[in-house]
Amino acid sequence: MEPDWIPTRAAGAAALERFLPHAGRDYARRRNYDLGPGQHDNVSRLSPWLRHRLLAESEVVAATLAHHGLPAAEKFIQETCWRTYWKGWLERRPGAWRDYRAAVEGALEPVDRGGREAAAYEAAVNGRSGIECFDHWVRELVDTGYLHNHARMWFASIWIFTLKLPWALGADFFLRHLLDGDPASNTLSWRWVAGLQTRGKTYLARAGNIAKYTDGRFSPEGQLAPRAEPVAEAVRPPLGDPPAGDAPDPYARTGLLVTEDDALPEGLLQTPGGWPLAVALQATDRRSPLPVSDRVTDFTAGALDDALDRNPAAISLRVDASETGMDRLVDTARTAGVGQLVTPWVPVGPAREVVDRLEPRLRAEGIALVRVLREWDRRAWPHATAGFFAFWKRLRPELPELIEAGGRPALPGELREGRTPR
Ligand SMILES: Cc1cc2nc3c(=O)[nH]c(=O)nc-3n(C[C@H](O)[C@H](O)[C@H](O)COP(=O)(O)OP(=O)(O)OC[C@H]3O[C@@H](n4cnc5c(N)ncnc54)[C@H](O)[C@@H]3O)c2cc1C
Repeated sequence: MEPDWIPTRAAGAAALERFLPHAGRDYARRRNYDLGPGQHDNVSRLSPWLRHRLLAESEVVAATLAHHGLPAAEKFIQETCWRTYWKGWLERRPGAWRDYRAAVEGALEPVDRGGREAAAYEAAVNGRSGIECFDHWVRELVDTGYLHNHARMWFASIWIFTLKLPWALGADFFLRHLLDGDPASNTLSWRWVAGLQTRGKTYLARAGNIAKYTDGRFSPEGQLAPRAEPVAEAVRPPLGDPPAGDAPDPYARTGLLVTEDDALPEGLLQTPGGWPLAVALQATDRRSPLPVSDRVTDFTAGALDDALDRNPAAISLRVDASETGMDRLVDTARTAGVGQLVTPWVPVGPAREVVDRLEPRLRAEGIALVRVLREWDRRAWPHATAGFFAFWKRLRPELPELIEAGGRPALPGELREGRTPR
């Protein structure tokens, strides 16, 4: 059975607790198998909670280390740190996100005009490519909001090299349907398959590999592209400084702002009298020029509601990223008399674009927007300058310190006992 992806921290904690015994050698041995919907219990399926930070990487890594130790659980811990790596990489090279946005707009033009591109695109996203495994993954993605990692790699490779569709439209399709759809992990993984991320490196899906790792469910012999030339030369946008984050003014009357990138604001700032104002800003519809699936929108809305429930305030407000939503946010902040709004750091992506537009409007009302960086991110992201293994080499010895600094493991026992995580 798939876990019920209920968008609460408690549900994420329970899923982590169920998976923990399997996060050691079991995971390392079986993780590459995609056994189909309802059969994915060889992997954690924690990504929807991790993506919205209903669970933090630090606590998943800490709980795994405590249960298994590093030698047995290194693979699972490494995979969890891939998320941190991609986020750090994009944070320092935001040009890759802007390029992706432009590539989606550019690729949609011929599709909007109709003709061959439109027909090929429509056939693919409606599961009518004629390649059985690919069409199956389309349905699984749309119906469940999840695909196994290996299926994502095969899917992206077939999309780009066999169906010869623009990579950015495939990434957009994922971002609109994956419950864990993430600007960094998604964009950079698609870039990697297409050969844009690492010079000279593409990912070619092969029929034999698919047959082996789907346990014989599929065997697209003779249907797949025999080679994968990079779609263009790998370009690394310029490397910027890692973000430092802002320090809140401890004396200012302070409201809370939560976005879908980090629904775990507890402990960012001590507010002895409670929050006068807590605002949840939902930017899900900004992930794409095309409609985002209801499943994704509902998960994100639920995650934000859960964050508000865990952080009671005199005034609680949920707004979307429309002009009306922004107006309501600014008006309410003014009425609540706050001098600053603190928010967990909003990484590069759709919510960041919205928050960047919001900041000057708040400033015009004398309200500072204070973006607080987690210790985990502050210490790990500077290492994300090149490939993952260079990152891991630097991160691995720092893990104990990082966990301590990034937040003591509050999971799973403490949540069960009803104590508030830091
Ligand atoms: C083309 C493509 C697109 C992808 N798009 C996304 C996306 O939008 N959002 C997303 O969260 N992941 C994405 N991934 C990465 C990966 O496929 C998923 O994180 C993973 O499959 C989630 O399932 P899980 O929780 O069962 O993973 P597990 O195997 O149980 O791994 C544990 C955790 O580690 C992290 N993780 C594992 N593999 C990766 C990886 N390669 N990159 C980043 N984090 C990883 C996830 O947080 C995951 O929950 C993509 C991969 C590819 C190849």
